[in-house]
Amino acid sequence: MTSIEVLRDRLDGVRSGISEAARQAGRDPRAITTIVVTKFHPAQLVRQLHGLGVRNFGENRHQEAQAKAAEVRDLDLVWHFIGQLQSKKARQVRSYARVVHSLDRASVVDALASHEHSIDCFVQLNLTDDEGRGGVRDSELERLTERVISTRGLSLLGVMAVAPVGEDPRAAFARMRAASERVMSIVPTARFISAGMSGDYREAILEGATHLRIGSAITGNRPTGG
Ligand SMILES: *Cc1c(COP(=O)(O)O)cnc(C)c1O
Repeated sequence: MTSIEVLRDRLDGVRSGISEAARQAGRDPRAITTIVVTKFHPAQLVRQLHGLGVRNFGENRHQEAQAKAAEVRDLDLVWHFIGQLQSKKARQVRSYARVVHSLDRASVVDALASHEHSIDCFVQLNLTDDEGRGGVRDSELERLTERVISTRGLSLLGVMAVAPVGEDPRAAFARMRAASERVMSIVPTARFISAGMSGDYREAILEGATHLRIGSAITGNRPTGG
């Protein structure tokens, strides 16, 4: 188990990195939400981080997320689902996640439709040329956005992206920012951007990210890889 002192140091390190990048971008760091990604780590780590003031947590696999959320259901947390979703599982994600970051095709959007409470969501944009990667193709962005806003039970926050491996993240995030503007021309309130991981959150902040998804810089290396 990671000691609370080590966790506190890593959190402080990331928080000051965020403040510095925000200052550089002329932005208010308080307007940036940090989601700590706890995939592959036990629920005990979520409890420790909660003790250090973290309230937003991210997971990328449904079964693991569901089990972990259940183990810490006594805590007041916001769970973010950030991984690829199968339409078959999408509905179940509604039971614990307040935000889904990975809407990338019509079937997933349709599966999340509901007459019950609304959940917040992001449309995920694929910044690579590889169709196998998560995210909607750039040319399909408007179509998927329209589908989300005409679906009951979904409230669109904005766009989400992962920087491609082997490319300057700043350049990739600049494309994402342009995509965000296209989405905002359809839905002016969808002004949020989910981007930035342990290795590239500074570049993401410089390109307007409002929701960072940070794992290993805070949690340490994942126990079983991934
Ligand atoms: C794992 C993961 C992260 C966090 O990655 P780190 O490099 O550990 O910060 C962010 N976003 C997604 C979609 C992830 O799967």
